[in-house]
Amino acid sequence: MFRNFKMVSKVVFGRGCTSQLGDILNDQRRSSKSVMIFLVDDVFKTGTIENRLPVNTDDLIIWVNVDDEPKTSYVDQLTTQVKKHMVGKPDHHPSGVIGIGGGSAMDLAKAVSLMLTNAGSSADYQGWDLIKTPAVYHAAVPTLSGTGAEVSRTTVLTGPQKKLGINSDHTVFDQIVLDPGMIADAPNPQRFYTGMDCYIHCVESLAGTYLNSFSQAYGEKAMDLCRDVFLSGPEDADDRLMMASYCGGMSIAYSQVGICHALSYGLSFVLGLHHGIGNCVVFDTLEDYYPEGVREFRKMMARIGIDLPRNLTAGVTDAQMEKMVDVSLVLEPLWENALGKDWKAIMTREKIQQLYLKM
Ligand code: NAD
Ligand code: ZN
Repeated sequence: MFRNFKMVSKVVFGRGCTSQLGDILNDQRRSSKSVMIFLVDDVFKTGTIENRLPVNTDDLIIWVNVDDEPKTSYVDQLTTQVKKHMVGKPDHHPSGVIGIGGGSAMDLAKAVSLMLTNAGSSADYQGWDLIKTPAVYHAAVPTLSGTGAEVSRTTVLTGPQKKLGINSDHTVFDQIVLDPGMIADAPNPQRFYTGMDCYIHCVESLAGTYLNSFSQAYGEKAMDLCRDVFLSGPEDADDRLMMASYCGGMSIAYSQVGICHALSYGLSFVLGLHHGIGNCVVFDTLEDYYPEGVREFRKMMARIGIDLPRNLTAGVTDAQMEKMVDVSLVLEPLWENALGKDWKAIMTREKIQQLYLKM
């Protein structure tokens, strides 16, 4: 069976296109009393973003904190906050949820839009195709590029038991607003870590056994764009990085990521590292598996002047190590993509542990 996947319905791209957000949202407003919910990364609270948001009287801006990556408990709390805001309003649901920020804020917007129409806790839906009711209209304005969260059919959440996405066709954004100006001020090393998420998506997709022409076309383009951005630094680097993220996301949509992502999930579940930096720490130890990719990654690190944190696993307990290995092993499709159908014979618990001990 070939995957028949849902794509983002509408895309606007261009420096300054965020100014069109008001018109875009007006098309979705059911009446003059309709409500839009803006979930905005609180890193922008002190800046000028608030003045630029097309906010109507009954709309709600929620400043979301992403010091920790999104947890199911936080999604549930935000959903309750939105439901309370809707009490006494003519519409039962808001007309839209708009996520403004990096992968974390975008994932929060996806998850809240799903949980407004689906009962229970977001933890109940971590998995594949468990969502039955379509979400509230949801849109994103990325302020960091690399995760591909703007195009993916998942929202990655850390729950009580596992770090696993809500993967469904309903998760996909209805609209994305790709404005390179919005990522222009993202500071290093964050810009690098998130950008490398995209580079690693491409390495893992292109080296994987699930590769096909669809994924290859997008993966090669995204990789070239990453090289432009991090090895030469052209004037329009932000535009290129934004399109790299988009293409990298499209590449893995039809293939899969690999060893780095499997290990990175375990690392971040136990040590709380964010996805981008976690991937970089892991990828740096994977020379045996992705030799060319790792060499080029190190060149990029040197050029941008990045010093990775080291000895992260030196103090972990045996129980923590076991948990890291367990979390990574749950991600069977990633291992199979990387190592083929017989991956279990190749990648033993001991080997995974040895890799973790290098980080
Ligand atoms: P992030 O959203 O976690 O943000 C990292 C840090 O950068 C935060 O402190 C944030 O406040 C700050 N930040 C964001 N934009 C900024 C800007 N323009 N200027 C200054 N600071 C800014 O980072 P990310 O790497 O974009 O996303 C990682 C998250 O995305 C993780 O939660 C990961 O699980 C998720 N993810 C999701 C998918 C998906 O397909 N849904 C894919 C990969 C990763
Ligand atoms: Zn990733």
